[in-house]
Amino acid sequence: MADRATYHYCPRCGTALAPRHDGERERLACPGDGCGFLHYDNPTPVVAALVEHEGEVLLVRNQGWPESWLGLVSGFLERGEGPEEGVLREVAEELGLTGEIVSLIGVYGFESRNEVIVAYHVRAAGTVSPSHEIAAVKRVPPGRLKPWAFGTGRAVADWLARRADGSAP
Ligand SMILES: [Zn+2]
Repeated sequence: MADRATYHYCPRCGTALAPRHDGERERLACPGDGCGFLHYDNPTPVVAALVEHEGEVLLVRNQGWPESWLGLVSGFLERGEGPEEGVLREVAEELGLTGEIVSLIGVYGFESRNEVIVAYHVRAAGTVSPSHEIAAVKRVPPGRLKPWAFGTGRAVADWLARRADGSAP
């Protein structure tokens, strides 16, 4: 998953953007004649999958991540795609697996990346064949899963808590 850089130039007309106060907050705006583009910079939704495969959870390390990092399969939605459709596409693209949605785990703000994570529990079948975007796949039994403190780690913690109290499959 690539970072989305903020705009420096107007995506409509190419003029350098400049700060402008719109009455509520300062935003980057296009000073170009008659353009009127305003860069709202709203958070982008990201779909994430806690992938359960043959009773284990599959964590992935994306290319370019530090060696010790592992996370959930995640990605941006394509235009015209719903979140459930998008997360199953990411599971197919990144791991080569056919998945089905078990449940929505939760929705989590990820303010430092200007994203909102929509995390699902996905049960997947097939033979794991990672895409070139994936540097490593690690299989972890649910009992040995340790949630990390940021981003998709909060979904892992919620999923484990619900499994422990019997309120989720
Ligand atoms: Zn412009």
